[in-house]
Amino acid sequence: MLIAIPCTLDAIVVKLQLVNAGINCPNCNEYISHVHQTRPVLVRDLSVFGQVVYLKVPRRQFYCFSCKTSPTEILSWLNKKQRQTNRYQEYIYEKVSVAGDPPRKELTVKQVSENEKMCVAGEPRRSEDAVQDIFHKVAQFKKKTGGCLRD
Ligand SMILES: [Zn+2]
Repeated sequence: MLIAIPCTLDAIVVKLQLVNAGINCPNCNEYISHVHQTRPVLVRDLSVFGQVVYLKVPRRQFYCFSCKTSPTEILSWLNKKQRQTNRYQEYIYEKVSVAGDPPRKELTVKQVSENEKMCVAGEPRRSEDAVQDIFHKVAQFKKKTGGCLRD
């Protein structure tokens, strides 16, 4: 279920509700549905109609009675500890990616960070760092796997 709520940040926040009741334990593969705790996290996603979009994602930690661990749910479209969806990181990567011959940057990190209103705690310098970090991370991933982050 998706609920879009307008937000004071001049952005749209889409509240996600995950429909699966449980997961298979990543340690022992047992099906588990006992939620240990849920933490809502705000995750940047692709803009819609020029509007900045955040997803409010319930990050669920389950409890596995058979192996006594509390694994966090694995979401194919959101890697661990990310504050942007995989497809948004791919999009940022493509925006600043080196292309053409001779190689050139499509847009500078600064331009992308401004275009995307990538405001990290209202501090422009840090939002450029965020774009730079995403770019390097995705570039490394591509070099290693030749694949795409997108699900
Ligand atoms: Zn288990």
